[in-house]
Amino acid sequence: LAARTADAALRARAGSVIPGGMYGHMNVAGMPDAFPQFFTAGEGSRLWDADGNEYIDFMCGWGPVVLGRKDPAVEAAVRAQLDTGDLLDGPSPVMVDLAELLVEVVPHADWAMLAKNGTDATTACVTIARASTGRRKILIATGGYHGAIPWCTPRAGGVLPEDRAHLGYFEYNDVASLEAAVAEAGNDLAGIIIAPVRQELARDQEMATVEFARAIRTICDRTGAVMILDDVRCGFRLDLGGSWEPLGVQPDLAAWSKAIANGYSLAAITGRDSLRQGATGIYITGSFWYSAVSMAASIATLTQLRDTDALARMADAGRRLRDGLAIQAAAHGFAVRQTGPVQMPLMRFADDTADSTLARIWTNEAVKRGVYLHPVHNWFVSAAHTPEDVDQALERTDDAFAELSRLVG
Ligand code: PMP
Repeated sequence: LAARTADAALRARAGSVIPGGMYGHMNVAGMPDAFPQFFTAGEGSRLWDADGNEYIDFMCGWGPVVLGRKDPAVEAAVRAQLDTGDLLDGPSPVMVDLAELLVEVVPHADWAMLAKNGTDATTACVTIARASTGRRKILIATGGYHGAIPWCTPRAGGVLPEDRAHLGYFEYNDVASLEAAVAEAGNDLAGIIIAPVRQELARDQEMATVEFARAIRTICDRTGAVMILDDVRCGFRLDLGGSWEPLGVQPDLAAWSKAIANGYSLAAITGRDSLRQGATGIYITGSFWYSAVSMAASIATLTQLRDTDALARMADAGRRLRDGLAIQAAAHGFAVRQTGPVQMPLMRFADDTADSTLARIWTNEAVKRGVYLHPVHNWFVSAAHTPEDVDQALERTDDAFAELSRLVG
């Protein structure tokens, strides 16, 4: 690992002109010391930090990179659209092409709207649910993440009780607590928003049970509330049509972003005909929501996911990583739990401390050896992760386990 002199210099400069030096999910201030803050390049499954160190990347830009960085077909579509025009005085034809494609590949979708970030999409879904039903209450799973504005941000700073006055809470995968929240909302229930997988920081991932997913569908049918699937993180990585397709449960509205355009900035809202009027009546927009380049990138991304074995290859890579880590952990005498979808892996140490000390040391040692993982957030695999990439990463994680073993006795 080259000395982090460029990274240190950038952090010092950032400290003067960016509040806290950095903010949000990409702030590494609280991370183990080997994690770099700044990166300069990425290609395929690889990433380079500001000091030129190369990593096999298992965060994929925290989800957006699904085909691998600099995917040739996506980059060609981006260049072609850049040559034609990006932000004009009205949308480009690609907007209609993309909306048609979303309606084609997403079974519940009769229409689509496009935005920029996941929070735009989840907030639009909540707004459409309220506008369509004329009701106020939105139910959320405790600890669920749906974005970073006052109605949903996980930190309390600057948030007023009024911002959350009409939210109710239930426990993920707990039908009884959901029924209780529904009863409390009474005839003011506008919608239920749910992520396809329970994915909270420093906690094992939890797949939704079929009973739970069906219960949400049944409750929404019974009460006329809108079922919103927040597929921002899982969408287009697990199943092209939506992450609860394998469970046979379809939402009324879905929020998408991250993997939709292989790293270009885009989000989408899809919905049923019954919500078309509600979606027509609200006012949502943004200066950059109509940029054609991201839409061209999205078409190139989604058609590859539809027409190639990219999704299967991604799952294979995730499985190979999980299997390899399981063997290594056992060989080094560590009890671990690997949870969630294989395409979004997470390994936690059974005997870890409350602040995940073992995970922090192990991922730090992996970073030192050129494998970029996260101690407490789920990881992401892309279709560019070949078996050879995974095997090379595993050689290094084996050394990280050995070093962890040496450090903690
Ligand atoms: N919902 C879920 C499930 C997410 O994982 C995220 C982003 N991590 C969001 C919403 C918000 O998306 P964004 O950060 O793009 O606004």
